[in-house]
Amino acid sequence: MKSLLIICDGMGDRLTDGKTPLEAALKPNMDSIAKEGITGIMDTVRMGTRPGSDTAHLSLFGYDPFKTYTGRGPFEAYGAGLDLREGDVAVRCNLATLRNGNIADRRAGRDEFGLEQLARELDGIEIDNVKIVFKRCRGHRAVLILKGKPLSPAISDTDPEKLNTPPAKSIPTDNNPDSKRTADILNKFTEMSQKILISHEVNKERIKRGDLPANIVLARGAGTKPKLPSFESRYGIKGVCVSATSLIIGVCRAIGMDIIEVKGATGHVDSDIKKKAEATVNALRDHDFVFLHIKGTDEASHDGDFDSKKKMIERIDREVIGPVLDKVKKDTTIALTADHSTPVGIRQHSADPIPIAILGDVRTDSVKRFGERDCARGDLNRICGRYLMDIIFDISDKAKLFGA
Ligand code: ZN
Ligand code: ZN
Repeated sequence: MKSLLIICDGMGDRLTDGKTPLEAALKPNMDSIAKEGITGIMDTVRMGTRPGSDTAHLSLFGYDPFKTYTGRGPFEAYGAGLDLREGDVAVRCNLATLRNGNIADRRAGRDEFGLEQLARELDGIEIDNVKIVFKRCRGHRAVLILKGKPLSPAISDTDPEKLNTPPAKSIPTDNNPDSKRTADILNKFTEMSQKILISHEVNKERIKRGDLPANIVLARGAGTKPKLPSFESRYGIKGVCVSATSLIIGVCRAIGMDIIEVKGATGHVDSDIKKKAEATVNALRDHDFVFLHIKGTDEASHDGDFDSKKKMIERIDREVIGPVLDKVKKDTTIALTADHSTPVGIRQHSADPIPIAILGDVRTDSVKRFGERDCARGDLNRICGRYLMDIIFDISDKAKLFGA
């Protein structure tokens, strides 16, 4: 048996007018996985802990995020196709808009015009014998790598994550002098980036076009190369990831999975998820484990848009789950779940456990529908995300015997 894990990012929710988006959605294919499979609920990281998408995925692949996670920056770097050396510090950045010394927009109006060129201007700068690698990812996002020992990731963010306030000064978060040095370099970079960007032709052009200028870099989530044994060395199975989200691609690259990027897949609610379904079916031909990640559900949740989330779930059901079931159900263990809840009412991740359903050689339970409260009555009961891969590979008869 092959194995397929489908993660709909942030799909879990709380009640709005008595129902969650999953419960309100028409999703016959997801329901059929629950009906024919075994169901339960899952705490991805641990009970009561609100997971980020990165720590959630680490945990889902069997890595203890409390031991392995050093920050989001390194995964963004991997996701952008960059490699990290021991001692490098990677930070995740936004190209943002500064007006009269205050942050006016953390995403420079989300308009992408000229951002690639602006990012190139910042790449290759040197500050105090530290080389700056700066690369734009999708949209207004970018990643910054500081190269030049001794550096430390124990520094605070320059992104205050709110508007109408100046960018924050990075400060060391421990007593290590390397942390002070690293924070100083990041502050110098912030100042330099501002000088370079403010007067840049691209920004003059952006203003002419009616866009906000991208004239400041805001940084957060500093981290170093995480120490992660590969997925293959852990399970004896080479995995492949189908995702359009750089953070998730980064986590998968960090553990040595193959990556399939699909044209037209955007990571937004308008993504061409049909193509991702096709890529998944194709990938199952020559891989024993495929991980399919769909982001749109989380995006709708952060926008607080119940209807958009419900519609996204219905589209995933129609365009992904249906076709995938048709093609691979016979010889594949299929697990359907989320990486965490993102309730539309609070617009951020929560620790509410998420529903999970697994189809394959399982002890089918009495649950008939896929949803938070339905799956809570299932026979998987309440599991921790750290054991999910073991459970999936056991059902697929790919698990090793412990003992004799
Ligand atoms: Zn997530
Ligand atoms: Zn999210």
